[in-house]
Amino acid sequence: MTEDTRTQQAGNTTLILRYYPATALLALVMLWFIFFYTNSTVSPLQIALTIFFSLPLVGGSYFLYKQQQKLQEEVLKHKKTHSELLNQRQKISQAMEASKLGLWEWDLETDSIYHSHFHDIFGYEEHEIPHFMGHLQPLVHPDDYPRLRQEIINSLKGNSPHFQCRFRIRHKSGQWRWLKDHGEVVERNSITGTAKKMLGTRRDITAEQEKDDHLQLAWKAFESSSEATYIIDPDSQVIFINQAFVDITGYSRQDILDKDFWSIPCFSEAKDFYEKISRNLKGEGRWEGELVQKRSNGESYHQWLRVLRVRNSFQQKPYTIGIFSDMTQSRQVEARLNYLAEYDELTGLANRGQFYDRMHQTLALARLHKQDLALIVFDIDRFKAYNNSLGHHAGDQLLKLAAERISKVLTSAVVISRTGGNEFAALIKGNEQQALLLSEELQEQMHLPFNIDRQELRLTLSVGVSCYPGHSHELQVLLNQADQARLSCKALSGNRIQVYNDTIRQSSLELLRLEQDLRKALETGGIEVHFQPKLDLKTNTITAAEALARWHHPDQGFISPAVFIPLAERTGLIETLGLQVLDQSCKQAASWYHQGIKIQVAVNIAAQQLDSGLLLQQVNELLDKYELPARMLELELTESTLMEDAEAAIIEMQNLRNRGVSLAIDDFGTGYSSLSYLQRFPLDILKIDRSFLMTDQGNKNQGTLTKAIIALGHGLGMRVVAEGVEEQQQLEELKLLGCDFAQGFIISRPVPAAKFTELLEQQL
Ligand code: C2E
Ligand code: MG
Ligand code: MG
Repeated sequence: MTEDTRTQQAGNTTLILRYYPATALLALVMLWFIFFYTNSTVSPLQIALTIFFSLPLVGGSYFLYKQQQKLQEEVLKHKKTHSELLNQRQKISQAMEASKLGLWEWDLETDSIYHSHFHDIFGYEEHEIPHFMGHLQPLVHPDDYPRLRQEIINSLKGNSPHFQCRFRIRHKSGQWRWLKDHGEVVERNSITGTAKKMLGTRRDITAEQEKDDHLQLAWKAFESSSEATYIIDPDSQVIFINQAFVDITGYSRQDILDKDFWSIPCFSEAKDFYEKISRNLKGEGRWEGELVQKRSNGESYHQWLRVLRVRNSFQQKPYTIGIFSDMTQSRQVEARLNYLAEYDELTGLANRGQFYDRMHQTLALARLHKQDLALIVFDIDRFKAYNNSLGHHAGDQLLKLAAERISKVLTSAVVISRTGGNEFAALIKGNEQQALLLSEELQEQMHLPFNIDRQELRLTLSVGVSCYPGHSHELQVLLNQADQARLSCKALSGNRIQVYNDTIRQSSLELLRLEQDLRKALETGGIEVHFQPKLDLKTNTITAAEALARWHHPDQGFISPAVFIPLAERTGLIETLGLQVLDQSCKQAASWYHQGIKIQVAVNIAAQQLDSGLLLQQVNELLDKYELPARMLELELTESTLMEDAEAAIIEMQNLRNRGVSLAIDDFGTGYSSLSYLQRFPLDILKIDRSFLMTDQGNKNQGTLTKAIIALGHGLGMRVVAEGVEEQQQLEELKLLGCDFAQGFIISRPVPAAKFTELLEQQL
């Protein structure tokens, strides 16, 4: 019965009850009138009749009156309940409105839904999704749908009294939103038990979920941080530690968590300190500093600790958060950096910086106390070759062992330093004589064998000496002088000791002047190219030529390439010089070629040219420019050039060879070639160094060597050229040994192109 019908019914009854006693009384009065008018006397029968009729009327009226009162009370009660209910409903709907809680009612028989806040939650209007399952499914995130479905089925089947699920839904705006559903079946078929109606609430929890995600991320960051973290609650219980804490301290989570902070060994041991920190925290709320702690295994370590006090929203008393890092490693790195700032990592000797500092100090004291000082600067001869052929690891080993011997000899030195790759310097308190004695001992020690990779190596040094106060008072000048003396040893193939003197000064000054002049010559085209013929020993004809740089100095006349080529190499001028020679050589070869004279021209290439990475491009441009077939050009690379960086050389050479250019190894036998490398270099020609022929006369061993080299060259598929052939007999012997070409003064000296053409014409 609805509230309205109930009110209406009550209203009708009230109407009847209100007028019924009055009507009954009126009827009684009318009965009395009838009696009076009809009979003037009232008989007992009349009285009895009146009482008989009046009594039920009065009783009925009273009863009806009471009923009416009761009904009125009930109506009033209902009205009150109704208004209370309305009030409550209003409040609930206001609360739901405020909470944005969607209320849904799902009629399973029709699959229709009633849903409040539908638009807020889904972005759609209700009519767009009239069917709960059918229309909702495509909106639910595919990862969440199976779970949601299962939860609903469980609830429908009665497996679980409530249905509860979090899932994502594609909002009309296109965003994924997190929803949280609570619901239950509220009506079932009384016979079959099939669910007929489900009721529930739905809430958009995207913001909460994001918050949760952020919290989880923050938690993970905490957990995986390399800094150890612990949290202590207001009752001094440790409530959190992260993995770094476990890693650094060595204590497990069981050892620490839920324990009283002061009872945990790693904290209790530093109790005094922590109490101090605690006092500080009370004032400032945070503390930061270094302290020494012990790990669970008793090992001490330095930690950098930051402690802060924080309050959460419920607690009046603060929590304490400690964050610390293990400084052991950074201390080690710091120590290492300090070491590296002063020492050479490989040899343990002082580095250049420390050497200068010590020299500075010692020189100042020497000035004060009028002491003698000597500076010894030295390097290992041919170290590059050892390094390249033995490998860098063995090269490092060699430097280490050499440094050990140096330290043993120079025990009295103020400082010993590795100033560069294979360069060393030592400062001793003493005069020139003492420096010379120590230098000689150094040489002797280096001559003793070093065992590297099961090979025996004996080293030689180039040693330069300069003295204070004899040679100079200035640190930098002394260093330059010793270095010049060292270089003068190098110019004489090393293995010697040289004290700085006037001649060295003079020659270094001269070299400086010469460098300026060479620069000028390169700018003004002062470098010429001469050509030296190569004789084909099988046909006895000149088929090739070597291009050789010539410099006619305006004052000094002809300057030997043995002087200006190393100078150009030292000063970086070699690339310009090399390119000029290459250009002139290609031009000349092309000129001959286009005249029908087929002369292959060989050009010497320096290490820097090969390293520059530009050689292939330069060769290409010149071949194109002069329309010279690549086969008419040959490039000569010395053994030491190739060995400087063998791997890089192989790549560059392969590129050149692919272009069609011939490649030769020059001065073979003077370097320190590794035979395994020789096999890998893409070479066409092997040039036996002049030194193998010069002493050949009467020396059977040398002849055997030449024979062996020719066989080696042929064995590796190369043609062999003998350089520096000066005598007819040599020529004959070479022919007998099967050498392919000969080059030397016996055939012709290097000559200008015009003269070379004449030579060719003469042989016709
Ligand atoms: P190299 O490439 O081995 O050239 C051969 C050297 O031997 C030349 O010396 C040549 O004149 C000399 N020679 C040839 N036949 C004989 C002989 O029968 N007896 C004697 N005693 N010497 C002979 P040069 O022209 O003085 O060149 C010396 C070195 O300078 C060359 O040796 C080469 O390494 C370098 N060089 C010359 N021109 C250039 C150049 O344009 N670039 C580069 N990077 N180096 C060059
Ligand atoms: Mg050469
Ligand atoms: Mg040569």
